[in-house]
Amino acid sequence: MENDCLFCRIVAGEKPAEIVYRDETVVIFKDINPHAPVHLLIVPVKHIRSVNDLEESDRGIVDTMFFRARDMARRFGVDRSGYRLAVNVERGAGQVIFHLHLHLTGGWR
Ligand code: AMP
Ligand code: ZN
Repeated sequence: MENDCLFCRIVAGEKPAEIVYRDETVVIFKDINPHAPVHLLIVPVKHIRSVNDLEESDRGIVDTMFFRARDMARRFGVDRSGYRLAVNVERGAGQVIFHLHLHLTGGWR
């Protein structure tokens, strides 16, 4: 855990968030500034700065992020209507929280 990392603090329960799912590998919560009717963040428990910093041993984490994203799409009713999974990598792409996360957006009419 990185003390100055907001997502580490949310994962540790030190900062509030609307958590919708948690297991030993990922925590999923609602984005505080949603860009779509459904906007979830799939966040690994392990602090990884960005995709650039993934290690071979993190394969199981990446795998779990996608499978739980699939499950949440179903739970939030957007699996059939459609949803987007996005990862911003570094500042030029819009990453502002430097703890890896997958955006799940959907629910547009
Ligand atoms: P990114 O631009 O990919 O780094 O995305 C960071 C996301 O985190 C943005 O969509 C923010 O709205 C979201 N965010 C920032 N602070 C919080 C928070 N305290 N709880 C939930 N989401 C947050
Ligand atoms: Zn972190």
